[in-house]
Amino acid sequence: MLKRLYPGGKAKAFNVTYDDGVLQDVRFVELMNKYGLKGTFNLNSGLMETEFEWVHPKGMTVKRLPTAVVAQLYQNHEVASHTLTHPYLSSLTEAQIMEEMARDKENLERLTGKPVLGFGGPFHHWGPEVVECAKRCGFEYARNAEERYCYAPPEEYYYWSAGSYHIMPGFRDFVEGFFHTQEELALCQIVGHTYDLDAEDMWDYIESVLQRVAQDESILSMTNLELVRYLKAMRSAVITEQEIQNPSDLPLWFERDGSLICVEPAGRATLEV
Ligand SMILES: [Zn+2]
Repeated sequence: MLKRLYPGGKAKAFNVTYDDGVLQDVRFVELMNKYGLKGTFNLNSGLMETEFEWVHPKGMTVKRLPTAVVAQLYQNHEVASHTLTHPYLSSLTEAQIMEEMARDKENLERLTGKPVLGFGGPFHHWGPEVVECAKRCGFEYARNAEERYCYAPPEEYYYWSAGSYHIMPGFRDFVEGFFHTQEELALCQIVGHTYDLDAEDMWDYIESVLQRVAQDESILSMTNLELVRYLKAMRSAVITEQEIQNPSDLPLWFERDGSLICVEPAGRATLEV
């Protein structure tokens, strides 16, 4: 039996994707860095220099971070677009959606000094016009807000489902199951906002999850962009009884009869029968 693996021969991948770029990101990113994990942070560059804030139903005020902290705070992580101003995309024309995406991408690239190639949509609206704009803006994937409580990685890169939302019922069982699953290419993707960790008093719990992920030799922490690129490469592999061909530009990892196989970019590996 040939089993597909993540980079470095890891059986499972873990990702945290948090939106909006709020003050609580500072505490959360410190935790991620403490455990050497990588996440994806979707920012609205147009709201960062405003006094924009709102009151959470639990009473706390939710505030955005200033742009000055972006480069340093998120330097070990993926910064992705979340549109310029967090609008309801369903109420915008295609030209306005393009403007929201393109200007945010441009701003975030200037702030981080790196290409910004991921997009996560605000609110719940999703459709072909959003996907089309994301492609035209040069994003390599676009994430919607659809939840999924399974460990199989998404198949669609522009209908990338959000993963499990960390304040929903069943979330803790989903995470616990991930540590025990034997599914091929198992992925645990957590989405939400760091202010929820205050609102739901989840800081200790989330730290315990990060600590377990860091200590588990079978799990690799990846950004959304790394996941998308690796899965595309893995799905391009041509696997026969005799060999594996890797047409991609990334090394691909497999396990067979307890042995690790790494197939180099544009390379092939013979499978002994
Ligand atoms: Zn948002």
